[in-house]
Amino acid sequence: MHTTGEIRMVQKVFWVNPYQTELLAKITEKDGHQVQLDKTIFYAESGGQESDSGSIGGINVIQAEKKGVDIIYTLEELPHFGIDDEVEVCIDWERRYQLMKLHFAAEVVLELFYAQCKDINKIGAHISSNKSRIDFEWTESINTVLKEIETKAQAISDADLVIESKFSDHTNEKRYWHVEGVAQVPCGGTHLVKTSEMGIIKLKRKNLGKGKERVEIYVA
Ligand SMILES: [Zn+2]
Repeated sequence: MHTTGEIRMVQKVFWVNPYQTELLAKITEKDGHQVQLDKTIFYAESGGQESDSGSIGGINVIQAEKKGVDIIYTLEELPHFGIDDEVEVCIDWERRYQLMKLHFAAEVVLELFYAQCKDINKIGAHISSNKSRIDFEWTESINTVLKEIETKAQAISDADLVIESKFSDHTNEKRYWHVEGVAQVPCGGTHLVKTSEMGIIKLKRKNLGKGKERVEIYVA
């Protein structure tokens, strides 16, 4: 337990350096299979971006859950380490990098849909490690604009633009990304540094029926 009045918040190194794959951190809380850290590179599902895969102190993490500004990690085995012990935090970089590319590609595609289809309504989104998707409420087929949006998204990737990620409100950990001439979007995810990291972007339409359209986003 931490002392009363002490302000302790897990330092989110995944925002400072989203490319870091290993980190030495201290255990600050422990309860059975669950631990908390003083700092972390291990992202917990939020904003449609899935949690990382990886380990803490050599034990696989089976769940990473955001609780306010804290992150609670559930380990596969009962930890042999205790509070104040230093442990190594590792993430599966291949998976994280794929998630970062698909997450950012989805955000760019969404901005392009907003610009292209006035009053289009996003009703859902998900990013996994092989594709991302956005669901819209839209009475027309998105096929009429899909190719144009794909071309524009590819042009943003090819332009190799700088992606800035910053706090808009440090206390409440509100963040945004900004690309000059493209968009500024509030988001607490982990972001690429250059748009070119998205690579080749491919879009596919899925008709969900009843005025609902899905766009699937692939990167290669
Ligand atoms: Zn984002």
